Amino acid sequence: MKIIVAGAGVGGLHAARLLAEGGADVTVLEQAKSVEQMRYLWHDDVCADALKQAGLPLPEGSFPKKDWTFIAPNGAARGMHEDNPDMSVMRNKLNEEMVNAAVKAGAKVMFGMNVACPVTCDGAVAGVIAGGREFTADLVIDSLGANSPLKDFLPSAIKVTAHAPYEVFHVYRAFYKKNADAPPAEYTNKVYMKHLGEAGISWAIQDENTVDVLIGRIGALPDGTLQNALKHIKSENPTIGSEIVAGGGRYIIPVRYPAPRMVADGYALIGDSAYMTIPMLGSGIASSLAAAKMLSDCVLNALRAGASDKKAASIQNLWNYEVSFFRAYADHCGVDIIKRGVLGLKDKTLSFILTSKVLDNAQICDLAKGRLLRPSIKDLIRMAGAAGIRAVSLLPVAMLIARARLTAKFAAKIPEKYDELKVNKWVEKLERRF
Ligand SMILES: Cc1cc2nc3c(=O)[nH]c(=O)nc-3n(C[C@H](O)[C@H](O)[C@H](O)COP(=O)(O)OP(=O)(O)OC[C@H]3O[C@@H](n4cnc5c(N)ncnc54)[C@H](O)[C@@H]3O)c2cc1C
Repeated sequence: MKIIVAGAGVGGLHAARLLAEGGADVTVLEQAKSVEQMRYLWHDDVCADALKQAGLPLPEGSFPKKDWTFIAPNGAARGMHEDNPDMSVMRNKLNEEMVNAAVKAGAKVMFGMNVACPVTCDGAVAGVIAGGREFTADLVIDSLGANSPLKDFLPSAIKVTAHAPYEVFHVYRAFYKKNADAPPAEYTNKVYMKHLGEAGISWAIQDENTVDVLIGRIGALPDGTLQNALKHIKSENPTIGSEIVAGGGRYIIPVRYPAPRMVADGYALIGDSAYMTIPMLGSGIASSLAAAKMLSDCVLNALRAGASDKKAASIQNLWNYEVSFFRAYADHCGVDIIKRGVLGLKDKTLSFILTSKVLDNAQICDLAKGRLLRPSIKDLIRMAGAAGIRAVSLLPVAMLIARARLTAKFAAKIPEKYDELKVNKWVEKLERRF
């Protein structure tokens, strides 16, 4: 079976490795000129088990993530301690490991290949145009990130999900050399929630020799907003020096629930192109790795059962991949409802929730990890009691949580088999909940 992986994203690279190990003829097309020039020359957080399950070693230079301190809109600080923290891993080392593993498994990785558009035939994706050449394939795996250019050029009959502009987080991230004259920072990992009253977050993370600064806003990050936020973060965190040693660019991360249509004939989305990140909380690496295993199992199992290459790449078969993903990650839909609800809260209410005892450490950890809160009525009464408020005051929060849980439950009820009518109904109903 001939497979093109468009973009050397995390999910695409891992799928390339697994599919090549299973005997497929896999080619990865990546726009960066070399593995050294791939994006993300910094560390990101990932659960060590996710790497282990993917058969990847912990990249050299990894270290446990430090405790977060949330800064509420009113400026008050709320610490959070995780007993089992994620690991901060160097992305360039991870990229190297993944490219090497894919190549060792027999996949071809071609750098300097800009994927421009899909090639389609009879309502199916049949390849891509990249670097001015046509590459034909039985299956194209779109691992091009949130703004995948392939999706833009698909004929309307191929209905994969696209995002609205407000469903993308626009991020500036830079690593500043530490200011040696400044006193040590009080908090190592400071996250400003609804920073300066705006829909988004900012952070200042103290590394050994640098300070990792991120300014992220939902929908758009105009220059004026960025400069204002940077000025504020620098004034509050004097360890931030003036020299940028890594990053310094703008990036995007999806902040929405996974794409309810992530497959078509000859085509499957993976990673950020299918919005597999837990909204606003990263974790895209872990879910992309897990999705790669689901996708490769779906394709290889069909081939092993005697399906033709075309049948293995058909929407009917690829739907099994989407079903596996939604069964495992339906909670992302609920978390997205909560995130939208939280960002819609008044500054005063968010400050109260963060700094009162309404939420205990374990609940703050769950929220920070993107896990859905499932408090019982008894828990809500206890939470209200701990914060010294009447239980009825928590009614709006309880309703938000109930809506999130119902949505997650509905998302997990994805039709088991691909049936156009049933799928359309499920997609429509799911979309309406947001
Ligand atoms: C600032 C920031 C911080 C993050 N922090 C975390 C974190 O702590 N933990 C975590 O799990 N996740 C984090 N993420 C998210 C994580 O990076 C993604 O979820 C994850 O990498 C999966 O995305 P992807 O690989 O599908 O897409 P991307 O990372 O966007 O990769 C897409 C690939 O496709 C290539 N490409 C794009 N267009 C073309 C084209 N036209 N032709 C050829 N190639 C192309 C790109 O060069 C790139 O290699 C962060 C993201 C950002 C931006």
